[in-house]
Amino acid sequence: MSFWEKIKQTLRSFMNGRNGVDQFSIALMWTGIACSLLSSILGSFVNRPLLAFLSMILSLASMVLYVYCIYRMFSRNLEKRRAENRRYITFADRQKKKASQAVYRFKHRKVYKYFKCPGCKAWLRLKRGSGVATVTCSRCHTSFTQKS
Ligand SMILES: [Zn+2]
Repeated sequence: MSFWEKIKQTLRSFMNGRNGVDQFSIALMWTGIACSLLSSILGSFVNRPLLAFLSMILSLASMVLYVYCIYRMFSRNLEKRRAENRRYITFADRQKKKASQAVYRFKHRKVYKYFKCPGCKAWLRLKRGSGVATVTCSRCHTSFTQKS
């Protein structure tokens, strides 16, 4: 067996029964990298105590994120790690959906007036130029007047 194969096998047996890399770990790592970058940008403003303090906090946050990412990779509590990962995926999907809806609203902002229902905060829209209209929310049936 070659040297590299031996290393590979040792690593494989070490990782056996451990969580390894999952989506949540990757997200933790990227958030940590983002925090480090922002920290070094803010830290470059000398004579700004507030920014220096923020930079320190971000640097600390990135450390915590890296440590937690590594801890998760080597964790043997698979059930808990998988539940965490599932929660993360649900959260990330919701954020992605919100972002794509915001992009859609922005693209169509000249055709439609977008506003939130005062009752349930759902996004509603009216065709622009149709004046003041009485709107009834399709989700919670709240009625209100809205300028288009
Ligand atoms: Zn509503």
